[in-house]
Amino acid sequence: MQDPHLPFDTDKLDKLAEVAVQVGLGLQPGQDLVLTAPVEALPLVRRIAAAAYRAGAANVTPILSDEAVTLARFEHGHEAAFDSAPGWLYNGMAEAFANNAARLAITADNPLLLKGQDPDKAARVAKANSAASKPAKEPVVNFDINWNIVSYPGRAWARQVFPDLPEDAAVAQLAEAIFAASRVDRDDPVAEWQAHNATLRARTDWLNDQAFSALHFTGGGTDLTVGLAEGHEWKGGASRAGNGTTCNPNIPTEEVFTTPHKDRVDGVAKASKPLVYQGTPIADIEVRFVQGRIVEASASEGEAAWQNLIDTDAGAARLGEVALVPHGSPISQSGLLFFNTLYDENAACHIAQGQCYSDCFVDAVAGDPDKVVEAGGNSSLIHVDWMIGGPKTDVDGITPDGTRVPVFRRGEWASEA
Ligand code: ZN
Ligand code: ZN
Repeated sequence: MQDPHLPFDTDKLDKLAEVAVQVGLGLQPGQDLVLTAPVEALPLVRRIAAAAYRAGAANVTPILSDEAVTLARFEHGHEAAFDSAPGWLYNGMAEAFANNAARLAITADNPLLLKGQDPDKAARVAKANSAASKPAKEPVVNFDINWNIVSYPGRAWARQVFPDLPEDAAVAQLAEAIFAASRVDRDDPVAEWQAHNATLRARTDWLNDQAFSALHFTGGGTDLTVGLAEGHEWKGGASRAGNGTTCNPNIPTEEVFTTPHKDRVDGVAKASKPLVYQGTPIADIEVRFVQGRIVEASASEGEAAWQNLIDTDAGAARLGEVALVPHGSPISQSGLLFFNTLYDENAACHIAQGQCYSDCFVDAVAGDPDKVVEAGGNSSLIHVDWMIGGPKTDVDGITPDGTRVPVFRRGEWASEA
């Protein structure tokens, strides 16, 4: 498919669509696909639809968003508009997933779209959406269905990442960064992904054999002990969804991750990268955890937004994820700050406030809400990753008898350094 008006190599966009459908989703013949994307990403939406139908999709249904429409609410919406969300749409998506539809999301948005809007209104909109979208998110969070998230080089996003370049050049650079991180700049991207998944699998197998009770992070101002949930399981790369389909939920992905114990996190965590949450940049986050809960928090920029985030509900001040990413990962080595969690979380070790992945447990616990709570899994309306790792990060694994095992040294896997 040729798009002469796009300032980047559209052959790689074709490959990205194939990787999203074959590796990302592992789409099965006869499956429906529900696809969300901004209108700007239509060149990728169309390619993914073509790849999905070639793979045997029954119905591909795109649900498009538009930045100007999003902003119209803030400029013209009446008071009641800010506590409202289209529950009917999320309920329809939930019904599709209950009937085994796959889910694909394309991110391309301007990370700072809501900068300058009333943060209180932005928080109300986010909260209304979080609550209304719960039925549509649950099959994804619980990994009942195969799902995938992939990126498209949007213009406003590209301007944020490359502020000194003319717009077309910025889009071209962001496109190249997305293509490289998504491994579609190689001859056989599907084979590259199989090899990458095998590397991630070796790491999760090792961590699962160790069965650490906690991880201790030090370096870069962080000194944090993260207790791990009982019966936690490490995941990463390709895994099998509840519907039996093997998929790679994130393209790109470099992390291995698991579930912390919500009451057993203690010490100080300092952000190694800024975070953009709902359009607000939040920089230099520093927090202190006592028995799993944040008791002190500060940030040099966006402190009110950060406080709002951890006050969302009772679980928002506790952790739902801990993830290991080597400093040598290609995304980290690009040196770019993407202002997009899909990219930035794959550049550094991170933790996430809020909801845990109930799938990151051994089979006897996974997917059983009561057992997940008993094992120490956290619950919240939010799930927000933030980066604590860097070139100075050391991580020790602590076994149940208190023995320390080197996991990371100076930002890299101790076993691979
Ligand atoms: Zn993560
Ligand atoms: Zn996460």
